[in-house]
Amino acid sequence: KSAIHKICAGQVILDLPSAVKELVENSLDAGATSIEVALKEYGEESFQVIDNGCGISPDNFKALALKHHTSKLADFSDLQSVTTFGFRGEALSALCYLGDLTVETRTKSEQVATHLTFGRSGLLTDEKKTARQVGTTVTVKKLFSNLPVRSKEFHRNIRKEYGKLISLLNAYALTAKGVRLVCTNTTGVNKTSVVLKTQGSGSLKDNIITVFGMSTFNCLEPMSLVISESCKVDGFLSKSGNGSGRNIGDRQYFFINGRPVDMPKVSKLVNELYRSANSKQYPIAIMNFVVPTKEYDVNVTPDKRKVFFSDEGSLLKSLKEALVKIYSPHLA
Ligand code: ADP
Ligand code: MG
Repeated sequence: KSAIHKICAGQVILDLPSAVKELVENSLDAGATSIEVALKEYGEESFQVIDNGCGISPDNFKALALKHHTSKLADFSDLQSVTTFGFRGEALSALCYLGDLTVETRTKSEQVATHLTFGRSGLLTDEKKTARQVGTTVTVKKLFSNLPVRSKEFHRNIRKEYGKLISLLNAYALTAKGVRLVCTNTTGVNKTSVVLKTQGSGSLKDNIITVFGMSTFNCLEPMSLVISESCKVDGFLSKSGNGSGRNIGDRQYFFINGRPVDMPKVSKLVNELYRSANSKQYPIAIMNFVVPTKEYDVNVTPDKRKVFFSDEGSLLKSLKEALVKIYSPHLA
């Protein structure tokens, strides 16, 4: 049983960014309008996600970190149209296997908050009252300490994982409308720096200005493509001749209905078309695909970053036609 737990835990939580991603998505699912990610030593020592969401009610404490405990899936047929980020009840269970998990939480029906400690297998090992506003704080210390090989890898790659995490948080900062997002990192003896801070604006434009600055925003132009009857793409792309000129994938963010995802094929297509028309610069691209939930599946891989469209071939073809009109009108 423990071996299975180990395999599953390692698939849900691949690295620091995927661990924090699960917690941020839980906060979003809980309706939080303020989310703070607090890292110690770039996340190597600990990370914490603090939200002002609905909190967790006491009836859920015991089962909270047990595998497949979820409050989000009412009925199996819901799998066809999942709109919340999580639904598998795997993240907290995986995190207690991989690190030291504590949760502090309070709903609006409670006068005080509760501090919960979980053991490796997900059992609640300690419960005590504490002071807190309504919302939830999840803390994970010593990620991967339970897996020696992975742990070594984690410590060796910590700066790289931290970089990936910041880029992921940028993606949420761009897309999460009306959610205030802060990330801090504390190093040494309480030296805290603010890595990211947004006010939770209502528009993608304002979020881009907050995350990347006005001068970057001025190099972009809005994009609005109708790809098919049921799919459109909204976002921003580098203006002609204003590519970032940096590496492939640098400042490229893809979303489906506001949820950050990896779209390597779309990225490749955008790069090819832009580069053929713009002396080999790379474009900045921020693209949100607005698609009915039944036409894609983000839940195939446990980390939910990979997306499967039911008709990917024709989607890419139509996207290409729409992009050619922008970048290489002479070819259209
Ligand atoms: P899932 O998100 O797939 O349901 P998780 O393991 O991520 O599974 O979380 C388990 C359950 O814990 C959730 O269904 C939810 O009820 C509760 N939970 C976790 N994090 C939060 C949070 N920040 N605010 C409120 N409830 C939470
Ligand atoms: Mg979850």
